[in-house]
Amino acid sequence: MRSNKPLTYRLLIWVERALQLHVGALGRHLLGPGLYVYTGSARRNPRARLQRHLRRDKRLRWHIDYLLSQPEVQVLDVEIWIAPECSVNRDTGGTVPIAGFGASDCVAGCASHLRYLGATPWGGTLSKR
Ligand SMILES: [Zn+2]
Repeated sequence: MRSNKPLTYRLLIWVERALQLHVGALGRHLLGPGLYVYTGSARRNPRARLQRHLRRDKRLRWHIDYLLSQPEVQVLDVEIWIAPECSVNRDTGGTVPIAGFGASDCVAGCASHLRYLGATPWGGTLSKR
C-alpha cells in the first residue's frame, strides 16, 4: 500500500562536548553539550533518509547534515511518528538552539526543528557517570 502522507521521524542526538557549528546560510553557532532532538519527515523512502542521517560521510545538504557530521555528535535513537512533524516538534519542548534550523520548508511557524533538551543531570557526558 502506498500513501502520500509523509512519515515523521525524530532523532535523539547526543552532543558530547560544546562545539562551534557552521550551518550553511544560518552561519556559525555555539552548541552546548547535551541532548538535542531533531524532527523531520520523509514523503518517499524514509528508510533511505534515515540511513543517510546515520551516515557521517556525505555531502552536506540539509542543516541537520552539518550537525550529524561532527565527531562530537551521535544519534542515540530514532523514533517514528504518525502525527505531522510540526506537531511532534512542538510537543518536544526544550529550547531553540539555532533559529530556523531545519525549518526552511516549515509552514506551521516552528522556530526550529532542532530542540535542545539540556545537559544531563550528572553534568554533561554519557561516558563519565
Ligand atoms: Zn514546523
